Amino acid sequence: MGKSIKSLRGMNDLLAETSEKFRHVVTVSEKVATRYGFKYIETPLLEETALFKRSVGESSDIVGKEMYQFTDKGGNDVCLRPEGTAGVVRSFIENKFDKRGGKEKVFYHGAMFRYERPQKGRLRLFHQFGCESFGEASVFEDISTIFMIRDIFNELNIKFKLKINSLGCQTCMPSYREKLTAYLEDKKDSLCADCHRRIETNPIRTLDCKIESCQQELSDAPKMADHLCEDCDSDFETLKRVLTKNGMEFEIDKNLVRGLDYYSKTAFEFVSDNIGSQNAIAGGGRYDRLVEFLGGKETPAVGFALGIERILDLIEIQESEKSGYYFGVLDEEYFEELFLVASQKRESEKVHIENKKRSLNKHLQNADKLGFRFCAILGSDEVQNGTIWIRDLQLKNDETFSIDSF
Ligand SMILES: [Zn+2]
Ligand SMILES: [Zn+2]
Repeated sequence: MGKSIKSLRGMNDLLAETSEKFRHVVTVSEKVATRYGFKYIETPLLEETALFKRSVGESSDIVGKEMYQFTDKGGNDVCLRPEGTAGVVRSFIENKFDKRGGKEKVFYHGAMFRYERPQKGRLRLFHQFGCESFGEASVFEDISTIFMIRDIFNELNIKFKLKINSLGCQTCMPSYREKLTAYLEDKKDSLCADCHRRIETNPIRTLDCKIESCQQELSDAPKMADHLCEDCDSDFETLKRVLTKNGMEFEIDKNLVRGLDYYSKTAFEFVSDNIGSQNAIAGGGRYDRLVEFLGGKETPAVGFALGIERILDLIEIQESEKSGYYFGVLDEEYFEELFLVASQKRESEKVHIENKKRSLNKHLQNADKLGFRFCAILGSDEVQNGTIWIRDLQLKNDETFSIDSF
């Protein structure tokens, strides 16, 4: 006997007690996304490492520290996907959707992998549901995306707050970046080591530093939302106006920069007050430059992802009503007869066949405990008369049926 093998750190089994909630999240999300015109897509869990280096950005923590990266037997540098967008965009370009009109709306869900320190709400293996809409530059597509997430959370009965920001575009971002960099250089001595690195690679990320002293130091830093060009500003105004018109509350968070390099204009995050400090439950925004970054034809795009594990604790599933049939015998010699009848019933109903003979009372208790609505019993009387005795455990009455009609 060898030592027993355990699952890897930060990688959990999805067991029956939570899998029902998990599937509920996926089912509701799929249903809503379909209503918004999205279609299901699946991309590989394993991709070339270069894909994530180019799309997620080498300066990000995800690529810098958290990737499940290895060399496969063919010598390829590969990586388990840390997020879903990169693979979808790779596929969009590889299948030439960018050159065939460029409009495509897809949703996906599945496992993602990040090698980080496991803590509550952060696992090394986790699951996301996400949507990507290609080919629509209008801010109304951003609004539709936000409404879609609202609809998903409403159907799941999850309370949320919406935070929005604008990250600018190629016109207004570079000059803002210069302003910010100059400001950061002045403050450099009081910033953390990560922020020092960010000043070189992606200065905007300093705004989202989790270190308290950095946050204090940077509280009066120039913000992108105050330096938007006319086009970005007008889109941001439309976004705010239409959200308000539709009764959608929001908060402007000028430090909301998202973790990834390719976002532009609209950025948003849905947060929950009920799950502790890692409180983002969905996030996304516009990424008009990513398709081009990855070698495709310039295509505007907007998308989001929601973390399934993050919201499982927020979901309450009503205890399902009693359903299905429990079959049992009072004597073993009737079992083959019972097995035949029960197997036929299974063509249309959930059925449990109890393989052991028990007393009537034990069968009834057992059926009730397992959540069945009906308890069907074969004893000597029933077999002699060609009948079966059935107790409705919900209405608490019983009846005898002829096996042929049953
Ligand atoms: Zn702009
Ligand atoms: Zn910092």
